[in-house]
Amino acid sequence: MSAPLLQIASIEVRYQGALLALQDVSLDVRAGEIHALLGANGAGKSTTLKAVSNLLAAQRGQVRGGRILFAGREVARSSPADLVRQGLAQVLEGRHCFPSLSVEENLLTGWPAHFTRRAVLREALERIYAFFPLLHQRRRSLAGLCSGGEQQMLAIGRALISRPRLLVLDEPSMGLAPKVVADIFAQLSRLNREEGVALLVAEQNSAVALQYAHRATVLEHGHSVLSGEARALRERADIQAFYFGEGNVAQAA
Ligand code: ATP
Repeated sequence: MSAPLLQIASIEVRYQGALLALQDVSLDVRAGEIHALLGANGAGKSTTLKAVSNLLAAQRGQVRGGRILFAGREVARSSPADLVRQGLAQVLEGRHCFPSLSVEENLLTGWPAHFTRRAVLREALERIYAFFPLLHQRRRSLAGLCSGGEQQMLAIGRALISRPRLLVLDEPSMGLAPKVVADIFAQLSRLNREEGVALLVAEQNSAVALQYAHRATVLEHGHSVLSGEARALRERADIQAFYFGEGNVAQAA
């Protein structure tokens, strides 16, 4: 079998040189798959994703042990901008749109500096509008006036403009109504199927994530404790109850 697109091998992460956030976290994301990273509040999901995109330094965090390879190269050797150029884009938790810019201007902020041809830019925008027709309708509206769901689509669209092979998303369901969450996941799933973009999605909402993912890894107190096919995890009521709580069992049923 070919090497995974993303390989996280036994990483340890500390903040401020001392606080241990992750210990012995491992997972693989294969090319073209949807991989869910599950766990409760504070389990270490965001820290893992920031390590993948080499964004920990801004938070005074550091990978102290293990290693992370994207397409066979150590991510630690590349800046976050270089990783985007190599095909690894991230949608951070909380969406982070520029409220006083229009939807289209926000999308253009994701345009990598090394892409210069206007025709390529137009094509990239059209592709995003084809996936998210709502963004096309709202393209001249101020992002700050968009709903939470529209802002989440915008954040995803902005990350897609660089044509990533792997899109990393931190809690895309956060603060959104169930119907909007289902729409967002359905669109992500279509993106995966039709364009072959691999997704690593951190979620507290395990019911919805396991419905769309191919495989999943569960984090608990900074450790990866379980990994496997999403379908198997979905069907195991004991695992659901143990790791995700009774509420999620009911939702997933
Ligand atoms: P959430 O869903 O709440 O974002 P999470 O699973 O993403 O949770 P992390 O945010 O990665 O978890 O947090 C993992 C651990 O690292 C927690 O103990 C948290 O308090 C700690 N931590 C996170 N960010 C920092 C930081 N900037 N400085 C110090 N400790 C941090």
